[in-house]
Amino acid sequence: MRIEVENLTAAGEPFGHKYAAEEVELDEEGVRLVSDAAVEGRASRKGEQVRLRGTIRTEVEILCDRCAAPERAPLAVEFDTSFIPQEVEAGKGENVELLPEDLGLSAYEGDAVDLDELVREQILLALPSRHLCREDCKGLCQKCGANLNEEHCSCEQGEVDPRWAALADLKKEVNGE
Ligand SMILES: [Zn+2]
Ligand SMILES: [Zn+2]
Repeated sequence: MRIEVENLTAAGEPFGHKYAAEEVELDEEGVRLVSDAAVEGRASRKGEQVRLRGTIRTEVEILCDRCAAPERAPLAVEFDTSFIPQEVEAGKGENVELLPEDLGLSAYEGDAVDLDELVREQILLALPSRHLCREDCKGLCQKCGANLNEEHCSCEQGEVDPRWAALADLKKEVNGE
């Protein structure tokens, strides 16, 4: 969805849109939307600067970093983002070293703000950088891929606790082996 800049006022206009889950492509491994993303907010304009404020509500499925178990979580993201025209941004660049990002601003192209991109970005920002299904997730066996939270595979038996391995090395050293 695009929000036409021309129609906006300083007082602000309400806007709302519902994206189907598959419409929002996050391009992030192990994360996808599993429900609609409902966006509601207010768009205002001061000169050429556009400000969008509002909330995105959706539900995400995130895979555990260690065992890849899927988990669902509701997400409510509040945003307050200001945009300036892409052209102005380019013009400023010649004299000033500041980019829109440095000013905490985003850019819009032409005569409308791209809401799709804002929604994608805001959802990505709201995701945890590291995600475990539980604090002590044991992950998957490196050798056979078994989920070690649920089963003990036979590969485990041959493995030596690194602490014991260190001790064994120490013994060898002491014995001059
Ligand atoms: Zn896990
Ligand atoms: Zn195994």
